[in-house]
Amino acid sequence: MSKTIKKANKPTVKIIPLGGLHEIGKNTCVFEYEDEIILLDAGLGFPSDQMHGINIVLPDMTYLRENAHRIKGMIVTHGHEDHIGGIAYHLKQFDIPVIYGPRLAMSLLSDKLEEEAGVSDRTTLKSVLPRDIVQIGKHFKAEYIRNTHSIADSFSVAIHTPIGVIIHTGDFKIDHTPVDGEHYDLQKLAEHGEKGVLCLLSDSTNAEVPGHTPAERSVYPNLNRIFGQADGRIMVTTFSSSVHRVNMILDLAQKHGRKVAVVGRSMLNVIAHARKLGYIQCRDDIFEPLRSVNRLPDNKVLVLCTGSQGETLAAMTRISRGEHRQIRVREGDTIVFSANPIPGNTIGVVNTIDRLMMQGAKVVYGRREGFHVSGLGAR
Ligand SMILES: [Zn+2]
Repeated sequence: MSKTIKKANKPTVKIIPLGGLHEIGKNTCVFEYEDEIILLDAGLGFPSDQMHGINIVLPDMTYLRENAHRIKGMIVTHGHEDHIGGIAYHLKQFDIPVIYGPRLAMSLLSDKLEEEAGVSDRTTLKSVLPRDIVQIGKHFKAEYIRNTHSIADSFSVAIHTPIGVIIHTGDFKIDHTPVDGEHYDLQKLAEHGEKGVLCLLSDSTNAEVPGHTPAERSVYPNLNRIFGQADGRIMVTTFSSSVHRVNMILDLAQKHGRKVAVVGRSMLNVIAHARKLGYIQCRDDIFEPLRSVNRLPDNKVLVLCTGSQGETLAAMTRISRGEHRQIRVREGDTIVFSANPIPGNTIGVVNTIDRLMMQGAKVVYGRREGFHVSGLGAR
């Protein structure tokens, strides 16, 4: 027999994770108070090997479709696909009146909304700056707290509700020497800690990895050493969204007197947005169009491309198969994988590396060699 006594109308906040809990990807969280709903992030997941013919994975949005009239707005923490990649699809099913988020994420998102046919234009995108507080509906306020992560312009959020403050960390690591000089606003976080927090929702991707995740800058000297040793062409692949990494690679290219050919649509896209907003700073003349790069001496060339995850259609994968129209691997090429395979992609990445080696390239890769660090904190 139940002894539960129903408390009379005690106000509560509901927290409903539709994706991203107990899984990597499709981060989507709903907060609800009385008749108001807000969303935090709406990402996509990537299909596993068993999902034949599937391009992207989205969470079940039935609850939001059925309660669409109660949605007051959305908070975006940062511009990674597993946090914003679902938004364009959801907007075909229900309206979100306003979306607040960092400048880089909003800039990437506005492109996505324009590209995707059938998305309603009834959504307003609003950019926020560190420590901005925005009111959403009658009951919610979102306070943006700068954090450090592998993409630039990333935030933790303090969600103020009528019954207390909820801290959502977003994706983060604590990097004390951030490449762009934007430090984690630990003071603001501590201030909330002192005042008292109702609930903390923290990313825990690397929580089982002991120790600390090294700073992003720790990759720089290792790439510098490899760049210094290469006498032929250098090709580097990384996540296009790893803005700090791309920034360091461009900086090193300049230092080593190499012109950069950027290959892959998402890499070109993110570099354009990040340069426009000042998150990547480099000279215009460092870039060389792909069609003319073959005319330069090998030791003056750096090819920066997508495909660090062995994705079938990405540039590095096509290069490894000899299927890229403009780039063929040659003996003497140094190829750097400045990324680790996401679980599930390991076989594809290893196959790509094998094919590149068989064509005579020197391929360097791996966290142990210091060519990559995670953007997420260890234990
Ligand atoms: Zn992220």
